[in-house]
Amino acid sequence: MKNTAAGKKDGILTNCPVCDEPGLKRTVHKSVVEDPFGGQVEIDKVYYSCDQCGAEGDWNNENEVRYLAALETLQKMAVSNIAESLKNDHGISNLYLERCFALPMRTVARWKKDGASAAATALMKCVATYPWLVELGEKNFDSVFANELLIKNAESAKCVPNTGLVIPEIEANGIKKVGTGLRYAAADEELALAA
Ligand SMILES: [Zn+2]
Repeated sequence: MKNTAAGKKDGILTNCPVCDEPGLKRTVHKSVVEDPFGGQVEIDKVYYSCDQCGAEGDWNNENEVRYLAALETLQKMAVSNIAESLKNDHGISNLYLERCFALPMRTVARWKKDGASAAATALMKCVATYPWLVELGEKNFDSVFANELLIKNAESAKCVPNTGLVIPEIEANGIKKVGTGLRYAAADEELALAA
């Protein structure tokens, strides 16, 4: 039956949007969405195809909704993981973080519970990458202190001998984790040290 008006059932498209024939085939793939701090989640990726004309697509717009929901979950997990890592690996409590960045008390707890804004999540990811940014906040972003802090931490990140920071944990793509937190150095630097 060719009928565009009847080509939807409960808001779901049942007829091909190209040739208007009914009998669409629905195919589901598993797809992984990941965030470096939030981890991974698996989502169903759906597409429809029409045997009559060969057209195919995500005609009910299911994938974007699912992808955005996955992203939201991951961002929430990222903020939670980062707050835990800051506390456990760097001794940076929620309270200290809030004080250094002039955030209202209990802000981090609220982010963990209800999810953080995109801007707040970005801030947490920056701090996770460079935890010493918190110290900079404590010094009210003093530019001289900022440069000293940068040089001090850049030296540590280079994995020079005797810094005690080298940990042999190789990650993907020539990047490996060093130290107890989230500081990174090129893998070949450490391989040279190990040789
Ligand atoms: Zn068709």
